Amino acid sequence: MSDRRRLPVVLVPNFFVCEACGTVHAAPERPPACGDCGADALRPLSRGSDADAGAYFSASLRES
Ligand SMILES: [Zn+2]
Repeated sequence: MSDRRRLPVVLVPNFFVCEACGTVHAAPERPPACGDCGADALRPLSRGSDADAGAYFSASLRES
């Protein structure tokens, strides 16, 4: 009975970084294009790179 240890899927979205502008998107599936610059250059961030994703978000928040 270890099902209670599994996180709901909605809480663990995948991260995709746009290689054109560096924007990171959090979505269940790969978006068709970057929502910021429109480039079709989204690369999925590998699992276990939450620290990297956090750095991206922190950087973008600081620039905003
Ligand atoms: Zn982009």
